[in-house]
Amino acid sequence: NYVVTLKNINFRYSGEKGGVTALQDINLGIKEGEFLCVLGPSGCGKSTLLKIIAGFLQSSAGEARMDNEPIHGPDWHRGVIFQSPTLYPWLNVQDNIGFGLKMRKFPQNEIEELTNRYFELVGLKGFERHKPYELSGGMKQRASLARILVNKPRMLLMDEPFGSLDSLTRQNMQTLIREIWTKTENTVFLITHDVDEALALATRIIVMSSRPGRILKEFQTSFTYQIS
Ligand code: ADP
Ligand code: ADP
Repeated sequence: NYVVTLKNINFRYSGEKGGVTALQDINLGIKEGEFLCVLGPSGCGKSTLLKIIAGFLQSSAGEARMDNEPIHGPDWHRGVIFQSPTLYPWLNVQDNIGFGLKMRKFPQNEIEELTNRYFELVGLKGFERHKPYELSGGMKQRASLARILVNKPRMLLMDEPFGSLDSLTRQNMQTLIREIWTKTENTVFLITHDVDEALALATRIIVMSSRPGRILKEFQTSFTYQIS
């Protein structure tokens, strides 16, 4: 049961000397509820692949689908977390987390109820009124995560989400993301260049190689998952 299917995906960045081929012949099905980690050296096309699934980029050839519908652009079903936390500096954490819901015209009491629930889930209770600059790096990443989760995406796309954190904070975030994955039954697509991180989190790992970006191999880890 696939959430996302990629068929013969090719992607070229245009530029001098005919540009750069970032992805070639990518075929991949992402199953409902799996935790997929993507490993590979810098420049092998991991971010480009994520951007195609997110809908930020359109493939040069091939087809990307979610729930059997072509992916045309970004939407709430696929929440994206980047390495640098993205928060509005002039809004407090609660308003940052509720921002998307406000844009979608949710009533204020529902926004409050939902944001409170996710404050608890990511371990930020008590920091509702803080501004982003008052938070540590790990806490900002927690807030970014809550900001995405509150929209109830079907899928989480993460590009080196813990790359800029110190090792202890990174471990805490890894534990948190696994807890969230278990609780929300989300499908997760996570890019890392840290083999240990992939082994600690993934139910399946794909390894990419560069020149041009291809899937080299993939394997199932011993972690299992269940969808109710
Ligand atoms: P990774 O995430 O694995 O580091 P990327 O997907 O970022 O790899 O990049 C894949 C290839 O595409 C690299 O050769 C990179 O230099 C190139 N590339 C990435 N973004 C652009 C861009 N905006 N314009 C031109 N080339 C790019
Ligand atoms: P983590 O994000 O895993 O909790 P951090 O290194 O980001 O790790 O923060 C460690 C702890 O330090 C936080 O859980 C929090 O209790 C405290 N902390 C960090 N920044 C602040 C702050 N601006 N105000 C109060 N407490 C803070």
